[in-house]
Amino acid sequence: MSKKYDVPYKMYLEEKEIPKKWYNVRSDMKVKQAPLLNPGTLQPMGAADLSPVFCEELVAQELDDATAYYDIPDEIHDFYKIYRPSPLMHAEYLEKALDTPAHIFYKFEGNNTSGSHKLNSALAQAYYAKKQGLKGVTTETGAGQWGTALSMACAFFGLDCKVYMVKVSYEQKPFRREVMRTYGAEVTPSPSDTTNIGREILKAHPGTTGSLGCAISEAVEVAVTNEGYRYVLGSVLNQVLLHQSVIGLETKAACDKYGIKPDMIIGCAGGGSNLGGLIAPFMGEKLRGEADYDIIAVEPASCPSFTRGKYVYDFCDTGMVTPLAKMYTLGHDFIPSANHAGGLRFHGMSPVLSQLYHDGYMRAVSVEQTEVFKAAELFARTEGILPAPESSHAIRTAIDEALKCKETGEEKTIVFGLTGTGYFDMVAYEQFNNGTMNDYIPTDEDLAKGFASIPKRSDGSYIE
Ligand SMILES: *Cc1c(COP(=O)(O)O)cnc(C)c1O
Repeated sequence: MSKKYDVPYKMYLEEKEIPKKWYNVRSDMKVKQAPLLNPGTLQPMGAADLSPVFCEELVAQELDDATAYYDIPDEIHDFYKIYRPSPLMHAEYLEKALDTPAHIFYKFEGNNTSGSHKLNSALAQAYYAKKQGLKGVTTETGAGQWGTALSMACAFFGLDCKVYMVKVSYEQKPFRREVMRTYGAEVTPSPSDTTNIGREILKAHPGTTGSLGCAISEAVEVAVTNEGYRYVLGSVLNQVLLHQSVIGLETKAACDKYGIKPDMIIGCAGGGSNLGGLIAPFMGEKLRGEADYDIIAVEPASCPSFTRGKYVYDFCDTGMVTPLAKMYTLGHDFIPSANHAGGLRFHGMSPVLSQLYHDGYMRAVSVEQTEVFKAAELFARTEGILPAPESSHAIRTAIDEALKCKETGEEKTIVFGLTGTGYFDMVAYEQFNNGTMNDYIPTDEDLAKGFASIPKRSDGSYIE
């Protein structure tokens, strides 16, 4: 094995090297992402339209495509110090097991109680809600990581937290639910009979196990009908990518400090927040023509928004209460097969990443569930960390790329995002260990049903 990098196994930054600013990748995009549209008028949504739903300063961040850097408020930075900087790890044992000339590094975001990167944005969103003098926030959670992160952030800043949790996860992941309740959140299984939209969905689909889109509709309804509440979202939005840029800025700082030059940057993509954050400063260099990186989004074959979706305007939720976003979408009625494990089940994708993907600044691959868990198993056995199923999509592709290097003899440097740990996902691991995991991939007919739900103009064309 060559000694291209002589670096420690865990590359830490010092506390004083935690970024003091977030980076807004939109400021360097020549072609900006399309604006959110009012579904009634098809006009771009401005601050006045968004403020009843979202916190004021977060609305300002959402709409700001120009400012390159935002100061991270001290109160948020103070909490970041509890669990950041997160280490950049050299996957030496994985490299050995693969017998590859590639050099593999991963940024590990699972070192906090919520177990994922989502805390980076939850803290920011709770902070701005508190600053505005609100009583509390509402949100949805699928697999549970976002709800957990938000409950931690709300406990820290003293805010009430109402979480609508997709029913199937509420029932299958009782421990996640209890972590949220321990931090003081009120957790309701969705669809529920506590909202109008929930009651409608229950009537139309009795016995449904819920979906993220449906939980979003309920959380938004509760926020707009309760004084002193706003809705917060853990992914997809521009503001979330802004907060998550802390991942990429730290990764870049560690790469610079230890002399690592990535060729490839890989991340899993659900709504796009960890990937958008990880790649942010690297994408900035690419957009400004200062450097080139092969950037890869990895999604599940069971929910393939980038690789098989349409780049058009769609609702972000099943109940059609959100604005329209132009994004790669499978249709807001698309519900991935129930046996798909973990997150990454959202029908759409971050508008920013959608535009960057559309313009050829990054590529996307889809991977099958059993192959993902094989990668997770190898990673756990060699690197010691039990990865979240979502993160394991990135591991799968990192391994595949490292194995290609073995064929060609190329000594590529691969950096991937390890977004979290999988301790609450043992039902999925159990299926894998028992050989009962299912790799259902939607057929074109399945996808056509989802596409049929995408809104169209009166002449039948999509809104683009
Ligand atoms: C939520 C989550 C993801 C996917 O969400 P993105 O917004 O695409 O980052 C990935 N990994 C973990 C551990 C998560 O909790």
